[in-house]
Amino acid sequence: MAMEACDEPDCAATLKELDVFLDDELSDGARQSIAHHLDDCPDCLSAFDFHAELKQVITVKLQNDEMPAGLLSRIEKCFSTDFDGDGKIG
Ligand SMILES: [Zn+2]
Repeated sequence: MAMEACDEPDCAATLKELDVFLDDELSDGARQSIAHHLDDCPDCLSAFDFHAELKQVITVKLQNDEMPAGLLSRIEKCFSTDFDGDGKIG
């Protein structure tokens, strides 16, 4: 999976901080620098929007018990993200 259009040095760092950003666990300064990068970088912005949306959908589904465990672990592995907050991916 290549993201060739998103090869600024800041992009990797921004995407790495994405989940912390979404969880609202970043300092104000770090949050501002990410928000600033997202302003200038449509690639990261779309990745960010997608993650935010996906996480929201998964949270609702988990609350309503609509998410099969196997599917969740596949999604977590795909995005290297601990969506259900159980401390592990997959
Ligand atoms: Zn970027």
